Amino acid sequence: MERRDFISKSIALPFLSGPYTINQILSGSHTINQKSEISDDVVIERPQPGQPHKGKVLAAIQPHCDDLSLFAAGTVAKLIKEGYEGYLIRTTNDDHAGRGETAGDVIRNNSIDNHAVAKALGLKKVFDLGYRNHMLDNYSIQDIRGRLIFLFRLLKVDTIVCYDPWGHYEENPDHYITAQAVEAARWMAGGGMDYPEHFEAGLKPHSVTERYYFARGPQLVNRIVDISQTLEQKIDANIVNVSQGPAGENGALLKQKLEQDGKYLALLGDTDTQANRNYVKHFVLDMDSESLRGVPSDKEVGKAYQLEWAERFHYIGVPTSTLPNYISEHAKRK
Ligand SMILES: [Zn+2]
Repeated sequence: MERRDFISKSIALPFLSGPYTINQILSGSHTINQKSEISDDVVIERPQPGQPHKGKVLAAIQPHCDDLSLFAAGTVAKLIKEGYEGYLIRTTNDDHAGRGETAGDVIRNNSIDNHAVAKALGLKKVFDLGYRNHMLDNYSIQDIRGRLIFLFRLLKVDTIVCYDPWGHYEENPDHYITAQAVEAARWMAGGGMDYPEHFEAGLKPHSVTERYYFARGPQLVNRIVDISQTLEQKIDANIVNVSQGPAGENGALLKQKLEQDGKYLALLGDTDTQANRNYVKHFVLDMDSESLRGVPSDKEVGKAYQLEWAERFHYIGVPTSTLPNYISEHAKRK
């Protein structure tokens, strides 16, 4: 077995829920900083010409409407660009009422954002499982898993992007329950024994063969994906998340707040649209990433591998069999 080292530093995860107000961000009260780093035999996945993944199916799975945007949107957009047919699965309904909103308002607004994320990333359809926000650990994981197995078989999913079921110190139950249900479902979907009634309905066993798992805390990182060519789509997917998370329209709000004080930041640009894009690009994904997302800057992750922008994953693919080579080298005629 290859050696795998975990090197973890101080851990305290940001609370990614509800829109961060600019006042919260400026005061630092929105989050607690966390750092984590892992390294091992890293593979760098670069942009590929053409559509090498044509005919393959991707499921991008998130508990809440802002998870993929923050942590994996560059990779999802890259895989779609390279030929995947993609679907977005959201496990919760993001109902988290507060600050004068009703639960109905919140569910509706987050649903709009979730669909906008799918559109920004080129995902063709959204499946909402609709479990209650922050309560996923109160449901039967068999129910969640069964629904995912059905979808993996129905859509013939080859590749998934999701939270890492083996990530450490994740505090949000929606994140780790989703990850655990997904990992078990992708394994069981390929077998012919579980949920045999699916086969009576015309479905067939279908194995998910590639996994891109991301985490907010320590995880095994063995794949760095170059997202330089899909960074703009990642920014798009973050800007449409106005209902929760650190991105949305906070750039414009910061610009307006500074103007009230007679100040401006040149980096934000001249218009609200520019301010939103530049805020996501330069602060959420880069300079203030540790504070706002709880993970290192995409730019810094890339810099270590001579890339402009990058995302990091625990990737698991198809094991390569050594048997064909052994046979070709050792088999003799009788
Ligand atoms: Zn989340």
